[in-house]
Amino acid sequence: MREPVLRIGIVGAGFSGTALAANLHRMSGIPIEIVLIDKRGRFGEGEAYSTPYPFHLLNVRAQDMSAFETAPDHFVNWISADCNAGQLLEDAIPIGDQFVPRLLYGNYLKYLLNSILTDSSGSVRLYLESAEVTDILGHEDQTGLVLGSGKTIMVDKVVLALGNNQPAIFPFPVSDSINCIHNPWDFTAPEEIAANDPVLIIGTGLSMIDAVLTLYHQKHKGKIFALSRHGLLPLPHVDTKLKLVSLGGKDFTGTLRRLARHVRSESLQQVNAGGDWRSVINAVRPHVPAIWEKSSLTDRKRFLRHLLPYWNIHRHRVHNKIAATLTQLTARQLQILAGRVLEVDGGRAKIKLRHADKIMQLNVKWVINCMGPALKMSDTQQCVKTLLQQGYATLDPLKLGFATAPTGALLEASGNISSRFYSLGPPTKGMVWECGAVPEIRRQCEVLARHLLQGKNALTDNV
Ligand SMILES: Cc1cc2nc3c(=O)[nH]c(=O)nc-3n(C[C@H](O)[C@H](O)[C@H](O)COP(=O)(O)OP(=O)(O)OC[C@H]3O[C@@H](n4cnc5c(N)ncnc54)[C@H](O)[C@@H]3O)c2cc1C
Repeated sequence: MREPVLRIGIVGAGFSGTALAANLHRMSGIPIEIVLIDKRGRFGEGEAYSTPYPFHLLNVRAQDMSAFETAPDHFVNWISADCNAGQLLEDAIPIGDQFVPRLLYGNYLKYLLNSILTDSSGSVRLYLESAEVTDILGHEDQTGLVLGSGKTIMVDKVVLALGNNQPAIFPFPVSDSINCIHNPWDFTAPEEIAANDPVLIIGTGLSMIDAVLTLYHQKHKGKIFALSRHGLLPLPHVDTKLKLVSLGGKDFTGTLRRLARHVRSESLQQVNAGGDWRSVINAVRPHVPAIWEKSSLTDRKRFLRHLLPYWNIHRHRVHNKIAATLTQLTARQLQILAGRVLEVDGGRAKIKLRHADKIMQLNVKWVINCMGPALKMSDTQQCVKTLLQQGYATLDPLKLGFATAPTGALLEASGNISSRFYSLGPPTKGMVWECGAVPEIRRQCEVLARHLLQGKNALTDNV
């Protein structure tokens, strides 16, 4: 390969970092070098796809999970060609319609990286570094990525694909005598739980469902309590094909209250006409970044405070078979509660139920944190702190993540758009809100890859 024209350092090798590398590989006509760095060293899998269990399924159909915006069948074609995937699939359902195991998706992402590593004809050279980026040193026209080992890697552009914030911390005291699983993405941790131990799960979203499924498959017999403020569960997908609803001509400006009313009335109209509310949610989803951008700070705060739990259960749906398993478990050992925990001490959890004056006491041996990632971007990572302190990065007004331009370029303290620091995926939540799932992130990858290569592909003949 000729001397690289561009050296890109990608910090984080989950879906965002991996899909960006794969998009660059697909689009680049010039010699470039990519250094993909991950502190956990699990390249491709990231947090979501590192589960070893086949019963942890994608919550999006295979047909929507390609890593490439412009090649939507890529994942389905890969599954069809992979002779080992068969045992993880259902025979009677077309592959594109299936909710396949997340571990299969992790294999797909590792395959994408391997394709770059083994492509000797291509113009992209990929290096994998298993290390934490502990600091970032801005030089005049290059940037040093300082690794935990002390080594520094010099690059032209840096993409921060850092993933979700750390799990939110319990807003109540837990005594040392209680066993706690603080990280819901430590998928094998529930294996430590004895079959008869009563378990309290904080959170009733998709991570709770992962934990309950793990307990169910390890034949847990004890009580399982799952609690959140509203006690709402993700709603199920449906088997039937959803009608495509176009909301293109609709006016999405206006207050949050007006928008919510609008979505409710559209949903009701669909249902009354024999359709499904899911079609409306699916139709709204691509407009979310524009709606978020136009909404006032007050409305964004209102959304986070009042609407988020409702948006989440309609937007993040589960396979209907999983929903059926939960219903079955609810009849015998799973209890969903709405309220808040006051404290967990001496084997007892004190709970104030929503809309009730009474304090409920539960015997519990384990508490699992399934509250999801902290909402605010933590600046505990030194590399993030450095970028903020030196003005290379700023946070969005609600401090949910980095302030970015539409390309993913960070907005500097000076107000300039950075020409060397970028981000994508969950750290850009504050700018677009919906950027945590594959369909949205792969779009960001396409835009960012195009931007990074812009003007460079044309240079190729002169290099
Ligand atoms: C449990 C779960 C299930 C999901 N299921 C689906 C689904 O079915 N369909 C869907 O579309 N979406 C799903 N999502 C959402 C989405 O796909 C993921 O959030 C997405 O994979 C995010 O990828 P990421 O690379 O941005 O983050 P991550 O996967 O978290 O990867 C970030 C990586 O950055 C590394 N890192 C962080 N800081 C540093 C540093 N300083 N130095 C070096 N490395 C660093 C971390 O080690 C990590 O590996 C799911 C999410 C979760 C959590």
